[in-house]
Amino acid sequence: MRYLSTRGQAPALDFSGALLAGLASDGGLYMPDSWPALASAEIAGFAGQPYRQVAQTVMSPYLGGAFGGDEFAGMLEAAYAGFRHPAVTPLVQLGDNLFVLELFHGPTLAFKDVAMQILGRMMDRELARRGQRATIVGATSGDTGAAAIEAFRGLANVDVFILYPNGRVSDAQRRQMTTVAAPNVHAIALEGTFDDCQAIVKGLFNHHAFRDRMGLAGVNSINWARVMAQIVYYFTSAVALGAPHRKVSFTVPTGNFGDILAGYAAKRMGLPIDRLVIATNENDILERALATGVYETRGVRETTSPSMDIQISSNFERLLFDANGRNPEHIRAEMAGLAQSGRFALSPEQHAAIRHEFDAYRTGETGCMKEIQRVWREANYLIDPHTAVALHAARKALAKAPGTPMIALSTAHPAKFSTAIQAAIGAPAPLPPHLADLMTAKESFSVLSNDCAAVEKFISERSRAARP
Ligand SMILES: *Cc1c(COP(=O)(O)O)cnc(C)c1O
Repeated sequence: MRYLSTRGQAPALDFSGALLAGLASDGGLYMPDSWPALASAEIAGFAGQPYRQVAQTVMSPYLGGAFGGDEFAGMLEAAYAGFRHPAVTPLVQLGDNLFVLELFHGPTLAFKDVAMQILGRMMDRELARRGQRATIVGATSGDTGAAAIEAFRGLANVDVFILYPNGRVSDAQRRQMTTVAAPNVHAIALEGTFDDCQAIVKGLFNHHAFRDRMGLAGVNSINWARVMAQIVYYFTSAVALGAPHRKVSFTVPTGNFGDILAGYAAKRMGLPIDRLVIATNENDILERALATGVYETRGVRETTSPSMDIQISSNFERLLFDANGRNPEHIRAEMAGLAQSGRFALSPEQHAAIRHEFDAYRTGETGCMKEIQRVWREANYLIDPHTAVALHAARKALAKAPGTPMIALSTAHPAKFSTAIQAAIGAPAPLPPHLADLMTAKESFSVLSNDCAAVEKFISERSRAARP
């Protein structure tokens, strides 16, 4: 299996090359050169298998032998042993043909753990084989930083530095990053905003001498390996509801389009998915693009589902590439238009191909609150605001095809967004028992000024990857 850049001007890489590169050198995203197909009988055989075994079958064709069979099985076992539910990603039924897929049983209570836990182990293993070390640097307004820290803590060949805006993340979010006692983990409270954190990380990557000396690597959602790891739960959940003998649909609360792209990949691999429903909050660039055929950025609006507060959806580029016969010149022209004027028009072929498989619905803040209240009232089940945006959309889509089971992806535990829960139902969402000591555990972090040079100095003094 080779990986091609969507923009066609970077070298094709094998799996481990794409894993360590993240973004392609031409600014594009790596895509597998073909979609591996699973036979219907093989998919049917997933019924009753443990999650990690399905994971191995679904991911192996993408690895091109990067890891041995037993080696990869061991990595998967370790990655998913830390999940608090034996099914890893269990299904819950809420109504006639309406289901919720709980993706939040990992160590930081958000779906990003599902991919990050295996990504960290794959990177560490590949670096060891190459005799290299890497420095992970990221900016976070909450979830991604915590998931990255949990995934990379204690690994031998990776040091991780996460910048967050001092005083501007919730206590629970900060504590998830600062109470991890591991020598290779560094939480940096930057005296600035989230945008300042992002600007500094960008500055570090653009300082090429520093980047090479530290072996800088990113783990944001454009990394192909993250998308790949998310394909698995589309298979396990669909098979639990009767696939491949019966079709199912999915609704996905969408930000950067990584999660729902994994659903698209599952469909390409042979899973009979009927509709893929994009659920957006008030940041609705994708809903507008599907309706009008024009992809146009607007300012970011702050909502109670912050992990979906985005201006552009980076992984959408991968779908655009597939939807247009994989023509990189065309993608380059579209992305140039986006950079220049904040918009481009989808070609008629792209627009038709995407609408053939996807629907999109937008849910405002009122709809989101009402959905949390409704599910609590009707089913005595607490959902976080991201899940609420998904369920609200899922109900609309289900009404159009009531005979097809609809699975809404639940991407965060409600306790992570307790302020919104309090506002909706008048009571907070309790933390699960294993995190009960989170609010009292000892914290460790460093406060740094909003200054790229200060952050560079801090990292070079601490990263084991530093080369003279
Ligand atoms: C990251 C995230 C999302 C959005 O996922 P994408 O892959 O970026 O579309 C949705 N919900 C939660 C809770 C998240 O952390």
